[in-house]
Amino acid sequence: MANDKPLPYGRQQITDADVESVVACLRGDWLTQGPRIDDFEAALCVATGAKYAVAVSNGTAALHLATLALGLERGDQAVTSAITFVASANCVRYVGGSVAFADIDPATGLINVDHLEQRVGELVAAGRPPRLLIPVDFAGQTADLERVREIADSCGAKVIQDAAHSLGARAQQGESWVSAIDCRFSHAAILSFHPVKHITTAEGGAVVTNDEGLAETVRELRSHGIHKHAERFVHDEASAMIGPWYYEQDRLGYNYRITDLQCALGISQLRRLPDFVARRREVAAAYDQALSSSTRLAGRLVPLAQRSTVQSSYHLYVVTVQEVGASLERLAQLRADLYHFLRERQIFPQVHYVPVPWQPFHGAAPLSMFPKAAAYYASCLSLPMFPAMEDTDLSRVVSALESWVEGLD
Ligand SMILES: *Cc1c(COP(=O)(O)O)cnc(C)c1O
Repeated sequence: MANDKPLPYGRQQITDADVESVVACLRGDWLTQGPRIDDFEAALCVATGAKYAVAVSNGTAALHLATLALGLERGDQAVTSAITFVASANCVRYVGGSVAFADIDPATGLINVDHLEQRVGELVAAGRPPRLLIPVDFAGQTADLERVREIADSCGAKVIQDAAHSLGARAQQGESWVSAIDCRFSHAAILSFHPVKHITTAEGGAVVTNDEGLAETVRELRSHGIHKHAERFVHDEASAMIGPWYYEQDRLGYNYRITDLQCALGISQLRRLPDFVARRREVAAAYDQALSSSTRLAGRLVPLAQRSTVQSSYHLYVVTVQEVGASLERLAQLRADLYHFLRERQIFPQVHYVPVPWQPFHGAAPLSMFPKAAAYYASCLSLPMFPAMEDTDLSRVVSALESWVEGLD
């Protein structure tokens, strides 16, 4: 047991082709701000179905720039899901806005759209209509984004889809299946290329959108707020002070650029996205099968429910620990016990996520204010899920789960 290889909840897969792509970049002329950035962005448009992609230094930077570019300002109100990574809320705080949270649907971990509608109604009634809604594609599937957009339109808010979990996911649109992040219902979507996500550039992220002006704003904000569009120059073009070297800064931007080196890796990784997603779905199907067919596991460890109109790309494979009549405290104890039991066997699950409104920085709201998020948080555990997982790794996890459940009786 001690010699078993460690199984994290997620990790990258790097091939010789990836290494060669990066080495070729190192031997070439550009390490940053070169042609690979445009190539990677073009490939992201193909992969997502969105018209424009702007690659940036990480997913959090993508959230920050999308929030700024959509015009959020100091004092503005936004709403996101109680269960997400803190970055989905922090982006609002970066620009001086405040964040309210909507509870989740505990079966899927997705934002509860009824609760979102209610929360938005409360904010409108209080004279603080939200200017931004940030639904999160939790674990790899999307919420009902068509309804989220209707709610946003009803109060004049914009929608940023936090798609850090859902690259490769598909959604049903009439009779056909389309990319779930083509921004048909959101003003922008953001991606992350952290090594646990679907593809990696080490650190990296992107904003995708169908709005050309928004894409250009994000592009300028990514690089200090500088532009070279002569028609927008404030200073007199005729003067000899102004020439081909000239640029103007007309707003406050950042250095959130991605590098050519990172894009060399990203281009190579993106070629394997269909394989990555196919393997993730295979692993999920094998877990589903094991959890439903084992008399020991069934009803004890329950996978997230899948919406019939979405094909998840399974960033995470989450189970919730269940017991008839158990209190929240009891579920939390069982989950903690399973967490430690697996770690002793070199299996490293993770908890996604600590409810954001419970975080001290975000107000330390009592968990009872978000009962569904609390119940979910007490019982959830993300099992190993990554494309390089082998069938033997999978059986190791499933046997460990069975031994744990056996030990309970
Ligand atoms: C990973 C992640 C982010 C942030 O991405 P980074 O690239 O790590 O900055 C944002 N939102 C969610 C839901 C994430 O999982």
